[in-house]
Amino acid sequence: MNKPINQSGWKPGTPVASDGSEHPTVTGNKALMLEEALIFEIGGTDTCGVDLPETPTDLPSRLGDFGRKQGTGLPGLSEPETVRHYTRLSRQNYGIDLGFFPLGSCTMKHNPRLNEKVARMPGFADVHPMQPTDTVQGALGAMNELAHWLIELTGMHSVAMSPKAGAHGELCGILCIRAALEARGDARKVVLVPESAHGTNPATAAFAGYATEDIPANKDGRVDLEALKERLGPDVAAVMITNPNTCGLFERDMKAISDAVHEAGGFVYCDGANFNAIMGRVKPGDLGVDAMHINLHKTFSTPHGGGGPGSGPVVLSEALSPFGPLPFTARTDDGYIHLVEEENADEYDHTSAFGRMTAFHGQMGMFSRALTYILSHGADGLRTAAGDAVLNANYILRQLEGDFDAPFAASGPCMHEALFSDEGFAEGFSTLDLAKGLIDEGFHPMTMYFPLVVHGAMLIEPTETESKAGIDQFIMAMKSLGERVKAGDEALKSAPHHAPRARLDEAQAARKPILSWMRDEG
Ligand SMILES: *Cc1c(COP(=O)(O)O)cnc(C)c1O
Repeated sequence: MNKPINQSGWKPGTPVASDGSEHPTVTGNKALMLEEALIFEIGGTDTCGVDLPETPTDLPSRLGDFGRKQGTGLPGLSEPETVRHYTRLSRQNYGIDLGFFPLGSCTMKHNPRLNEKVARMPGFADVHPMQPTDTVQGALGAMNELAHWLIELTGMHSVAMSPKAGAHGELCGILCIRAALEARGDARKVVLVPESAHGTNPATAAFAGYATEDIPANKDGRVDLEALKERLGPDVAAVMITNPNTCGLFERDMKAISDAVHEAGGFVYCDGANFNAIMGRVKPGDLGVDAMHINLHKTFSTPHGGGGPGSGPVVLSEALSPFGPLPFTARTDDGYIHLVEEENADEYDHTSAFGRMTAFHGQMGMFSRALTYILSHGADGLRTAAGDAVLNANYILRQLEGDFDAPFAASGPCMHEALFSDEGFAEGFSTLDLAKGLIDEGFHPMTMYFPLVVHGAMLIEPTETESKAGIDQFIMAMKSLGERVKAGDEALKSAPHHAPRARLDEAQAARKPILSWMRDEG
């Protein structure tokens, strides 16, 4: 039986000095930052927050043997207690509206409030996917227009809007490639992926039935073109290349890579998660890409996670377009937006679709936000956003390259993210210790230990929406932490000291997660 304490071991009434504070409090509260136990610990099972009518006891049960033998164990709290519980917890959360979120590769940019306003318009927010198309022409029109701009921005031929995340888009793109190969009776078995790739790339290829092999990188952190060319052959179905790559570098040889892959009969999948750095400046279609997903929740500022689901439309080349999934929208000359589904696909010359990715059309709430972002920025605004993201990252790279080892800084400017390693840290001190210290300084840590090609990697992406003052404060914190990890400051080993919980045993939490709380009846 698990003990009724939460995972950190704190019990109400125990003075909390886990932050090393000389002034522990009996409540565990730190000034007006309130300590909070689990709802199961504070809510008794004999309490109920609402008045329910008395259960009649004189009626025979209609449940037979299915009647409950035990209570549900659900915690009972009054409405104000419930509201306070969740509000207190929410104050311990950290998000993009609170402060800097420098996650490399993930583009955590500000979510403009205009997007939110548009997404809540009833014509977008309250539609149902099974409504007759003539009652949702506005929503379908917005989807169709977003599709148009995604094709325009990437210089591609078509777009599949339905995938619901970047990884889902990767699967969609690779399934298009598989369908195209099957259509010509070509049973290729291998997908090549660079060592620095996001884990979803090899996972996607494996999920679609391919064996994956590494493409080596050169000493500049880019794909080794010669090694790639040597490996290409009749067994290679595709390469998956992230551009800009996860070392924050633009793959300058992209066109040559695409030409070589096409010549060998394969297809080029581009991981477009980092499109934020090049939108309005480079069209992947010009670089010979056959399929690329766009994370609307990165590049086009729609929220990640709790703010709503992701969205990962996939743009396709002319060669792959016939195999794109259903459904999709099609606009006729009279302005009417039609939905192309299995039953009318032949009217639209789209009989080779590999299938579908989702039940319906994708994430309407993300489409309306992304379209708002694109239209409110305009062509010049998108171009400027990309440039500012790159400028901010280079500012961080140059400010910190004297304090931390920056493995690729010598090969020129970075794109939207700056990469550092743990070289020079004192014996026994790690990137994790620095990241925990960063929490004490009020910053969400950067992406750590990724990409794997750099030891103890710290991948920092400031995005274009951070101000110089905010970035300067981050740089100041990083410089100070850099000195402390090099000097071997023992206090860092137990950081964070000021967070609601101190250093947690993350390995234990991952290996032996306690996912449900059990009341201690003893
Ligand atoms: C975020 C990301 C992905 C996966 O996208 P999701 O939307 O999280 O599924 C793939 N590749 C790279 C490089 C990424 O940064």
